[in-house]
Amino acid sequence: MRLMPVRFDLTLTLFLGIPITAIIVLWLFRKESVLSLPGEEIWECEICLGVYIAPEGEKVTRCPFCGSYNKKQEARI
Ligand SMILES: [Zn+2]
Repeated sequence: MRLMPVRFDLTLTLFLGIPITAIIVLWLFRKESVLSLPGEEIWECEICLGVYIAPEGEKVTRCPFCGSYNKKQEARI
């Protein structure tokens, strides 16, 4: 029977590498999702239900789809 240390190394690399890669990918995704909304908020038009992004802190925004104005609402959930 021949020993196969290379195969052991490969197994070890996969065993350690897959979780580390997964963590890095998840971390990058999380960072990107945070960076995609710097100072911006997602709005939903009350008239046409279109979803759009407006600067954070705006009390009234104009829907880019139908042109109607939307007022800031308290959390609706
Ligand atoms: Zn609209």
